[in-house]
Amino acid sequence: MHGIIATWRMALEGIEKADAMLKEGKNASDAIEAAIREVEDYPYYKSVGYGGLPNQDGVLQMDAGYMDGDSLSVGAVCAIEDFANPVSIARKLSQGTVNNILAGQGAAQFGTEYGFEQKKMLTDRAKRIYERKKAELAQNDQLRPYDGHDTVGMVCVDDESHVVAATSTSGLFMKRNGRIGDSPFVGSGFYADSQVGGATATGLGEDIMKGCISYEIVRRMKEGMPVQQACETAVNQLDETLKERRGQAGDISVVAMDCNGNWGCATNIEGFSFVAATQHSAPVVYLAHRLDDGHTVFEKADQQWLDAYMHNHSAAVE
Ligand code: ASP
Repeated sequence: MHGIIATWRMALEGIEKADAMLKEGKNASDAIEAAIREVEDYPYYKSVGYGGLPNQDGVLQMDAGYMDGDSLSVGAVCAIEDFANPVSIARKLSQGTVNNILAGQGAAQFGTEYGFEQKKMLTDRAKRIYERKKAELAQNDQLRPYDGHDTVGMVCVDDESHVVAATSTSGLFMKRNGRIGDSPFVGSGFYADSQVGGATATGLGEDIMKGCISYEIVRRMKEGMPVQQACETAVNQLDETLKERRGQAGDISVVAMDCNGNWGCATNIEGFSFVAATQHSAPVVYLAHRLDDGHTVFEKADQQWLDAYMHNHSAAVE
């Protein structure tokens, strides 16, 4: 039973590609890498890869992570600049026994040595959004600098029950130089165990890390919890704990898939979208809503929502 699930609508084209690969009998590692590369390559997604929004110095720094649920191998790059596909470098790093997680200059050196494509990743469009934000912030100190983030995180299971999880992001818009969120950190941004399943998160990395939420979801599944319940209880508990101890909780949204292709999602925000495809169902974009009783429900995004999404994402930036 194969399947793939991913955070946010932006994953759709990648999921379609991966779904076709899985149907042809390709493995989960190749399918997830191809899917995330598709998102990284698309210029209109402002929080992943090419076209991503920069940090407060106007520099685009990206994080990516990869985990193989058979061997539990992990690879990640942090704050890497000007490489086309950080997820591919993360996957390559997962194949070593040491030096699995590299940051900044060291990650770039590795990428160069291994011949990964270098590319100027800051687009003119992203630069214009940055300049506009900088001007707004200079005029109004009530504004929050960090609007505009979202990570593409995916979990994929192939017909051999091989589970893989991966992420890619440019992190928070206007973050400090060198800031790293949850996305390249195993257990927080992603986790995969082929004997159980995998999970991945998106939202405020600083808060997601406080609950190591992806590991937490997989741990719950390992103890026998169904995937949807594991997602909901993990998100709700972290949300409550953060509110109790700190007075507030940042955005936390997760998706997960077990090794049999059953999937779930949970969120503490309104407006979380995700994409899922399995052997028995074509890729679908869903919109999630958290009910007052703590359950997360989801519905298929309708055509109007999908059209508005594409319109907003490709709208001109003055
Ligand atoms: N979790 C990412 C980060 O904190 C951002 C996001 O997923 O929205 O860098």
